[in-house]
Amino acid sequence: MAERLKVTPCPHCRAIGALIRHGYLRGYDEGNLRHKAVRARRIFCSNRGRRPGCGRTFSVWIATKVRRLGLTTGALWRFLQRAAADSIAAAIRAAQCHLSDRTWQRIWRRFDQGQSKIRTALLGRCPAPAPIEPSRQPAAAQVLAHLQTAFPDAECPIAAFQHALRTFFV
Ligand SMILES: [Zn+2]
Repeated sequence: MAERLKVTPCPHCRAIGALIRHGYLRGYDEGNLRHKAVRARRIFCSNRGRRPGCGRTFSVWIATKVRRLGLTTGALWRFLQRAAADSIAAAIRAAQCHLSDRTWQRIWRRFDQGQSKIRTALLGRCPAPAPIEPSRQPAAAQVLAHLQTAFPDAECPIAAFQHALRTFFV
């Protein structure tokens, strides 16, 4: 992020080399009013010292993170696909990361409980695809297929979902 900022033009004045990080924008998650999650990073276009900027600030939405977990949306996408097609245990083995089995199971439950909300959000963008091949978790597999249909060109459909809808996937 810091490296990229050095070569990114300011959206206001187009100056390059003036952007610096300026804290976070936090907001409450639905269903959890005690915890404020980071939703975006504040960026300052610096006009201090010899910086060439305009002195304005703006926000960069963080779309590739999964809230409250040190996990990327790419890793979550691979996990959910494997879990829906095969089993949660197989998906945990394949993930090979720092998260514990219990945490993965909690992530699955969060996704499972959020399915109808995700489906509703996706229906606002495109109709659901035709039912797919039989799988272990047909409802979950269907939601994931719908997600892919809604964002066909995205490198990570979950990141695309979060970016497009300005909300967390799980
Ligand atoms: Zn600027």
